[in-house]
Amino acid sequence: MLLTFSHPEPLCPATRVWPVFIPFAGCPGRCVFCAQDKQTGRDGVLLDAVLEELVRELAAAQTAGRGPYELAFFGGTFTALPHEYPERFLSAVDKFRKLGLIIKTRCSTRPDRVTIEQLGHLGSLGLDMVELGVQSFDDPALQASGRGYSGDAVRQACATVRAAGLELGIQLMPGLPGDRPGVFRSDVEEAIRQKPDNVRLYPCLVIRGAELENVWRDGGYAPWSLDRTLEELAWAVEEFWRASIPVIRMGVAAEEALEGNILAGPWHAALGQRVRARVLLAHIQKKAAELGLAPRELLVPRKYSGELFGHARELAPVYAAMGLSSGKIRFHDADRFLLS
Ligand code: SF4
Repeated sequence: MLLTFSHPEPLCPATRVWPVFIPFAGCPGRCVFCAQDKQTGRDGVLLDAVLEELVRELAAAQTAGRGPYELAFFGGTFTALPHEYPERFLSAVDKFRKLGLIIKTRCSTRPDRVTIEQLGHLGSLGLDMVELGVQSFDDPALQASGRGYSGDAVRQACATVRAAGLELGIQLMPGLPGDRPGVFRSDVEEAIRQKPDNVRLYPCLVIRGAELENVWRDGGYAPWSLDRTLEELAWAVEEFWRASIPVIRMGVAAEEALEGNILAGPWHAALGQRVRARVLLAHIQKKAAELGLAPRELLVPRKYSGELFGHARELAPVYAAMGLSSGKIRFHDADRFLLS
């Protein structure tokens, strides 16, 4: 018997992202877990300087024939920037949209800082997607994390983004203060009900300088272990993929400035790769069970050769235990997996 199947991840066009960091800009306060200054390597910004630098670098990219790019405003609360900066940024970018250098513009913001009027207006100026820093739909976790809004407000914000005709992204943060067994799984189910265009998963970390550092030092907060995080994220990614929702980021990026400032929590430089490899393994295990007998050979699309066995080949023993030792797994140039 021969089974052919595709990778379980939904198709998601890959475009190059041009990130614009605006750490803490527009934020009503600093959330307990947040250390955007460490994450972005920038400690606050002057928005005029960011705008000038952006226009200068976009012009240079245009001249050099680079692109196209997706422009993404990260690290602050874009829709709450003062002095019409959202409009000023979008208007400045408009010229580069018309030239084809920028093909999409998105921003991240808080669920309690979106209104239908403003999003409609920003959409008319070129904003395509709003990524909501939801973190959780769970009221006690939101309260313990000092987020200042409820799960109902998040649901309303998701509806507002849609009603404004924009694409919706959802960011979740498993392991928040106030977390309890089952909260993350119900957050995932709730997020799926909102039908986002994409999702990011950022497990909660204790970062030097964030308020959570003190709570953690006083014994009032315990982050998730890495093992639990891998298991829970693998479950979540499988659910999102089954609902055809791409998961475009897992864990904060391995910035040099950040690494030395992570005091506790489930951080790993290859977190996303490790999770994806687990989801793929579970998919292949299900297909092997359909075969009804021990698999003899697995042909894998070559583009997944770096992912199949996980980080440092940590999953190779699991494949071997299934009867798929390294000699029985080959890579080929086709798009589908073949299992016999
Ligand atoms: S989590 Fe978001 S809203 Fe809170 S301080 Fe950080 S960037 Fe601002």
